[in-house]
Amino acid sequence: MEQGGDLSERDQPAVAALRGRILLHTRTLKAAALAEYAGDGTVLCGAGALGEVKDALRYLGTVSVLADPAPYEEHFAGVSDSFYVKPRPEAGGLLSLPHGVDRPGQDQLAAGATAALTPTRYFAAGDDLAVSAATRRVRQFDPSQVIFTVPLAAEWLQSDRDVRFLIGALNRVPHVKALALGSAGDPLPDRASAQRLRILIDNINDVALIRAGLAGLDSYARGAAFVSIGMQKSCRAFRPPDAAGRPDANRSGRPKSYVLHPDLMQYFRTDALAHLYGFTTPPPCDCIVCDGRSLTRFSDDPDDVREAEQHNLATWLPWAEELQEASASDRRYLWRDRCYAAIEAHERAGLQWRSRRDPGPPAGLTLWATQED
Ligand SMILES: [Zn+2]
Repeated sequence: MEQGGDLSERDQPAVAALRGRILLHTRTLKAAALAEYAGDGTVLCGAGALGEVKDALRYLGTVSVLADPAPYEEHFAGVSDSFYVKPRPEAGGLLSLPHGVDRPGQDQLAAGATAALTPTRYFAAGDDLAVSAATRRVRQFDPSQVIFTVPLAAEWLQSDRDVRFLIGALNRVPHVKALALGSAGDPLPDRASAQRLRILIDNINDVALIRAGLAGLDSYARGAAFVSIGMQKSCRAFRPPDAAGRPDANRSGRPKSYVLHPDLMQYFRTDALAHLYGFTTPPPCDCIVCDGRSLTRFSDDPDDVREAEQHNLATWLPWAEELQEASASDRRYLWRDRCYAAIEAHERAGLQWRSRRDPGPPAGLTLWATQED
C-alpha cells in the first residue's frame, strides 16, 4: 500500500476499531477472569500474551483484544535493532531474519488480535538515533493494521529538548503511536514530567498511551486515540531492562496488594494505607466488589491481591465511563474537577491521619487538578 502520512489512512478497519477505547492492560494467565470486565477490551501483556488471545476472544466476545509481548522489558533498541524477533529454531536458533523479511506483529494478527502492536525494543532516554531508526523501519508496516509501540524510559520526560525531538520524530510516522513509560518507580515523579507527557499527547498525531495508571485517563481526556490502564501494578508502568537492583525492586517477585483509594485517586500499598488510618476508622468502599467493606482489609495473599485488583478496576471504570459519555470538549474539565476534588479529599484525610508517612497527593494528580492547558 502507499506509504506516508496520508490522512485517509486514519480510518482503516483494524486500528479504527480502537479509537476512543479505554482498555484494560493486564498480565493475566486466566482469560476467563476477564469476562467480569465488560468494558472496551483488553491488552494482554507479557511473554504468554499471544497464546491467550484466542481464549480472551472466546470469553470476551466482540471487544477489542491486543497482545503486548513486552520485549521492551528486556531488550534495548539500537540503530540496527528496533523490533524484537524471536530467533527461529530452524535457522539454528542463532539467526533472526533481516528486517523487511519478517513482519513483527503478524503473529498477533494471525492469532486474532484486533490490531498488531509492534514488538519494539526499549528506548533509553535521549537515544535519538534508536528512535529515528525505528521510525524509518516502522513505515514498512501497514498503518491500518499495525500500531507503533513506543516504549520510552520515563526520563525522556525530564527534558524539553527530548520532548521536542519525540514530537518531531513520531509525527513523521503515519501509524498510531502507542507510548508506554518505563520506570522502576513513579514514571511521573514531578509536575514537570506530567506536564511534558501532556505536551506529547497534545502534539503527536494519532497518539495513544498504554500500560499506564490514571495518566491514561488524563491522556484520554485530552484526546488520545485510545489508552490502556494497568490491572496489576506491573502493568501501570513497565520495569526497564536496566532496572534490576534498584532500591524499590520487589525482590520476592510475588505480587502485592495495591489499593486505589476512591476519594484520593491514589494507589497505596495495602499495609501503608492501613498504617495511615492507624486506630482511626478507614472508609468503607461502595464499589461493587467491596460493597461497603473496609478499604484496608486486603492482605498480600493471592486471593486478596486479585480482589484488590478487582476493586481498583471497579473504582476507575466509572471515571472512564464518565469521560467517554461526555463530549470531547467537556472531558478535560470533568477530569480536572474530579482530580481537584481528590486533592481536597487528601487534605481532609491528612487531618485524620496526622502521619509523617502521608505521602501527599501524587505529582501528576496535582497537575491534572490545577493545570488547564
Ligand atoms: Zn472497593
